[in-house]
Amino acid sequence: MKKTLRLILGDQLNQKHSWFKEVNHDILYVMMEMRQETDYVTHHIQKVVAFFSAMRAFKIEMQEKGHQFLYLGINDANNKQSLKENIKRIIEERNIEHFEYLLPDEYRLDEQLKALCDEITISSSSVDTEHFLTQRNDIATFFKGKKQFLMENFYRKMRKDHDILMEGKEPVGGKWNFDHDNRNKYKGEVPIPPAYSYKNDVSEVISDIKKANIKTIGFVDAENFHWPIDRKQALQFARYFCRELLPHFGTYQDAMHTEEKFLFHSRISFALNSKLIGPKELVEKIIEAWKENQDKINIAQVEGYIRQVIGWREYMRGIYWAKMPDYAEKNFFEHDRKLPDFYWTGETKMRCMEKSIKQSLSEAYAHHIQRLMVTGNFALLNMTDPDEVDQWYLGIYIDAIEWVEITNTRGMSQFADGGIVGSKPYLSSANYMHKMSNYCTNCHYDHKKKTGDRACPFNSLYWNFYDNHRDKLAKNQRIAMMYRTWDKKSAQEKEELLKQADYYLTHVNEL
Ligand code: FAD
Repeated sequence: MKKTLRLILGDQLNQKHSWFKEVNHDILYVMMEMRQETDYVTHHIQKVVAFFSAMRAFKIEMQEKGHQFLYLGINDANNKQSLKENIKRIIEERNIEHFEYLLPDEYRLDEQLKALCDEITISSSSVDTEHFLTQRNDIATFFKGKKQFLMENFYRKMRKDHDILMEGKEPVGGKWNFDHDNRNKYKGEVPIPPAYSYKNDVSEVISDIKKANIKTIGFVDAENFHWPIDRKQALQFARYFCRELLPHFGTYQDAMHTEEKFLFHSRISFALNSKLIGPKELVEKIIEAWKENQDKINIAQVEGYIRQVIGWREYMRGIYWAKMPDYAEKNFFEHDRKLPDFYWTGETKMRCMEKSIKQSLSEAYAHHIQRLMVTGNFALLNMTDPDEVDQWYLGIYIDAIEWVEITNTRGMSQFADGGIVGSKPYLSSANYMHKMSNYCTNCHYDHKKKTGDRACPFNSLYWNFYDNHRDKLAKNQRIAMMYRTWDKKSAQEKEELLKQADYYLTHVNEL
């Protein structure tokens, strides 16, 4: 065999990949901590720590299995901090004859690797990461010729193709989607089991990050890093979820609570996105837990979870590959305002925003509805430039990798794609916040008030948004009713709402 160099990126930690079936001493695996990855956006400290820690653990485990590894640490003197430059140097110094890489999930890295292979003189090839259930281009093929890519259609196909929750050709439970059963507010009816946490000591990684002077946001506890950072921990996390949280996952999936950051969510996204655990094995565990505990876990919980993993997650990846690179430029509403300063501090009197942002800074985590209906909703109502919104989401969350961040942020949350991912913008006034959370209790603002002193900003900004974008939205059948409600309001009410919104937009950093 030719002397081969195989590249493993930081989010390609799939121990079960067929590459590792046999130990071959003609193969050298390379992993690199690089400034090009730590600096393309300002990341949360926990995100950098999680990736570096998981990469280091992966290398050690694979070396113990006999594989040869070359690992470049962030402060290594010979680390050129760039993917291309490092690989070129290693090829030359080690007399490498063939270069192989796992297909990256990010467009940016895909381009870099293609360019690298054109520049080097030795042969090269790429292989699949064997992580996802679909191939990169499956979505593009499935929705060929369609303007809107309906997730539900794709999801049903996934269920059938992979025979997941199926009874012959019919969905288990007689319905494809139990979303309507999954919309409860959490009022403490069932206790939430303690968050499953590790006490990983990550002081060494943190000291390396500090030494390298990498700019980060957020906070970290060096001796109690609770995220799973190796495969064993990821599997334990998944098992704990199946046993303790799955029984109520769906019911409270959309709920938000001031004292409960994680509710019944699995917090498995980092482990999934770095490929410590695979979606197929995760789904198998969910189904196994359900079959063994049918008295405790009903189909609505299981379906609700599986839809996220084999539906939304695979769908977003497919959209990404079907629509990049243009997707990153999309700005349907032509929004150009700055992201308010409080996104970086959580210092705002709006309790929902304060709680969601401060939690994001302390945990590098917020659950889906906090991301969509609190911070995403406000960014949209503020008519924020989607580039700024993307930068924030890409930096702050532990699981943020562009393929899944941008499709959720620019697409689902900001409707900047004009309706590829969603059929209408996800917007709400304070009503929704009050219905799904306890954030409005003790808030400085009054969720019932639309105008005047202490009126909740979400209310006037909501109507202001619709008024502002009438030309772009009025024809949308799913929104037509909103315009009928708006049109029925008196001229005076409309004027007061718009005046209030204008004041809030002008003074957004004081809210
Ligand atoms: P759970 O609620 O327990 O769900 C289980 C799993 O389902 C998740 O781990 C995730 O892998 C998958 N999933 C759920 N919803 C989605 C979705 N909409 N798209 C893709 N996968 C989904 N997810 C990321 O992994 N990375 C991101 O950068 C990211 N950015 C987001 C930005 C915005 C504005 C929004 C609205 C959502 C974003 N999501 C992102 C999706 C979702 O919020 C997270 O996957 C989820 O909160 C992770 O927490 P969890 O593991 O506890 O999820």
